[in-house]
Amino acid sequence: MSVKILDKNTIIKQKSDGFTPLIIGDPATIFSARAERLRALAKDSFMADYLLLAGQIVQQQALLAEDFAQPVTNFASENALTWPLSLDQAWFPILEAMLAQLTTSLRLVASDDIVKVIDSLQDLDCDTLHHYFTALQHNQPERVPADLAILLWACINTFTSLLVKTTALEWQPEPNVKQHFCPLCGGAPVASLIKGSGHRYLHCSQCETEWHRLRAECTQCADGENIHLQSETLEDAVRAETCGHCNSYLKILFLEKQPNLDPIADDLATLVLDQKLNQNELYRNGFNPFFLPLIQ
Ligand SMILES: [Zn+2]
Ligand SMILES: [Zn+2]
Repeated sequence: MSVKILDKNTIIKQKSDGFTPLIIGDPATIFSARAERLRALAKDSFMADYLLLAGQIVQQQALLAEDFAQPVTNFASENALTWPLSLDQAWFPILEAMLAQLTTSLRLVASDDIVKVIDSLQDLDCDTLHHYFTALQHNQPERVPADLAILLWACINTFTSLLVKTTALEWQPEPNVKQHFCPLCGGAPVASLIKGSGHRYLHCSQCETEWHRLRAECTQCADGENIHLQSETLEDAVRAETCGHCNSYLKILFLEKQPNLDPIADDLATLVLDQKLNQNELYRNGFNPFFLPLIQ
């Protein structure tokens, strides 16, 4: 992957409209808003139980993001980081501490099914746990049991988002490089977001960073000839951008229509749209951890 990472002392001139190619969010704020959005979406949904479960996990991520902000800042200053981030041995102590806190808290509030998942996580030997963390960070979720993956992912997602927040890198796209994966962590996008400015950003499933991509071209294969928007109605704020060239799609969220949309929550809550697209042999080219138990 050819990306140009600039350190925080390098100033990128922003255009007069405030356009910036990279947006790094605050993890605790993002997770709190996402948990609230999941609870709101659950009110009218046929999959309310699952949305509420996702909300419980994300709510715990918001707490982890606060409690681990300083340890991750210390980690960033003590370890030589390479970009895009790639999990190595040094990550494991913090990921394991996050997992311990997450499972202890979740055990008190979650259903019996999740308590069983927590029990089986605690039975894992160290090598298997490390193997699962590594597979998830390297975009290989198929190597991890789906029910375990959603809890392990919560730790990786919290850790990488804190790490990119504390390092505050800036980024400029290379000319002619079409960036489907996150320039900071290599994670897959969850969805596209159309901001009020009209610019399109891809939202990283792993570190919550958003990076600019031109509109009306496939984010995966860059084809611009066979792009269509599909949804129940033209007014829907969540649609799917389908590509007839590589037969894939990514949800596209129009924040200008509804500012409180969240890429993970609203992608998950529009599962019916996925089912229709899958029937037409279109597959997802983005990643949402909460889809894993639904598709395995
Ligand atoms: Zn990322
Ligand atoms: Zn395509």
